[in-house]
Amino acid sequence: MIVKDTQFASFQQYSILIFFRLYILLLMRHVKTFFIKTYGCQMNELDSEIMVGLLKSRGLERIDDETTADLILLNTCSIRDLAERKALGKLGRLAKTRKNSALIGVAGCMANAKKEALLQKVPNIDFVLGTNNIHELNTVLDEVLRTGNQSVRVDPRFEHELDYQITVRDDPVKAHVSIIRGCDKYCTYCVVPYTRGPEVSRHPDDIFLECKQLVDKGYKEITLLGQNVNSYGKDKPEWNILFHDLLHRIDSLEGLERVRFMTSHPVDITRELMEAIRDLPTLCEFVHFPLQAGSNRILKKMHRIYTKEEYFEKVALLRSIVPNVALGTDIIVGFPTETDAEFEETRKALEEIRFSVGFIFAYSQRKGTPAMRWKDDIPQEVKDERLQTLLHLQEQIYKDERTKLLGQTLEVLVEAPSKREETLLKGRTRCWKNVLFPGTPDLVGTLQQIKVHSFTNQTLMGEILQPKKLLIVGA
Ligand code: SF4
Repeated sequence: MIVKDTQFASFQQYSILIFFRLYILLLMRHVKTFFIKTYGCQMNELDSEIMVGLLKSRGLERIDDETTADLILLNTCSIRDLAERKALGKLGRLAKTRKNSALIGVAGCMANAKKEALLQKVPNIDFVLGTNNIHELNTVLDEVLRTGNQSVRVDPRFEHELDYQITVRDDPVKAHVSIIRGCDKYCTYCVVPYTRGPEVSRHPDDIFLECKQLVDKGYKEITLLGQNVNSYGKDKPEWNILFHDLLHRIDSLEGLERVRFMTSHPVDITRELMEAIRDLPTLCEFVHFPLQAGSNRILKKMHRIYTKEEYFEKVALLRSIVPNVALGTDIIVGFPTETDAEFEETRKALEEIRFSVGFIFAYSQRKGTPAMRWKDDIPQEVKDERLQTLLHLQEQIYKDERTKLLGQTLEVLVEAPSKREETLLKGRTRCWKNVLFPGTPDLVGTLQQIKVHSFTNQTLMGEILQPKKLLIVGA
């Protein structure tokens, strides 16, 4: 744990800061409202929901206007350079737009990556709170208010019990539940093992209790979250439980309609997990299964610890056990030294496997990753061309897949009224496809059979066959 005051270059800067902090001290009794902005992945969204709960538990009110909030909290992402630049840009703008007395806190992966250097870069920040320290949010806030000093708390691994009961969720139908934090895989392009630390599984009884409480409140879908969910339990052999065992336990909850999980590393996808997808009624037939590249040399350089052949074998086995499974992937093009022939191997892999969901990116260097030691030697125009080639291919796959669904009837969980048109509802199939259809808001939280008649881009359009009896959905 690091708690540190910033060192300032000059006496003048120091005096201004002391004056400013005393001013805040005078206003501390008026910290009544907060604004929170989340960048990045679902793990961050869940962490924000927990922090909202913590702040509400001390009587603060959440507001949407950052210019009038007493506390502004940015929950940042560090996975790409662009994500960091966005958060830093926001911090710069806040200096002008926030209320003078407002406190600024930075949480999330950028807090872990930059630590006290963030205070040097943006001196207006009052506290930096790492992803492994969110349980300390209120303690840090009290400390900053009491002393007027800046604070940095960034633990290298997650080792504290978090009060997940305090989570405040906006979505009344679907909930995220954290089951494991951190990552031990050390892919050479990724900062996560260095920002979030090693894998730490959450106790299964605690997970089960949270899932049960969510179902009792009326939640219909639970997504189990972790950087690598299928490593679950390996760091705690004494618990004698692995990911597929946990899924069996959660599936037994009466009233739960769907379970999803995100994200998986291909080497940890076991036959037992594939059989669980086949056998457990709640477990959706969708696996996000990042390939990253189709060339063995590049996979090795990425430290993905599988070969293309091993990956293809897993896909074949999964499809033989769960024939209707849909696969998602992440792909990076333009990794250092990637040749045209190696890129072509990636293109062919996409064409052959035909993923239902593809997140495709051009490589960019990340500070703090092992890949920084290699020159980013693929010219931007080559990266862009490779990216466009794959995006175009993936678009065609989306189109072909959706054309085959025309006229079919699919089970859809109704999630919310559509923002696009107020007479429409939106939902998802078990295989994670977006569907829009006419209906009334009282159907939110129900499972409906939707007959697909058309699609636009990736969204299926359809009609409810016969609206099912309503289910009560909790808050
Ligand atoms: S598996 Fe690799 S890409 Fe995923 S979080 Fe871990 S190190 Fe990063």
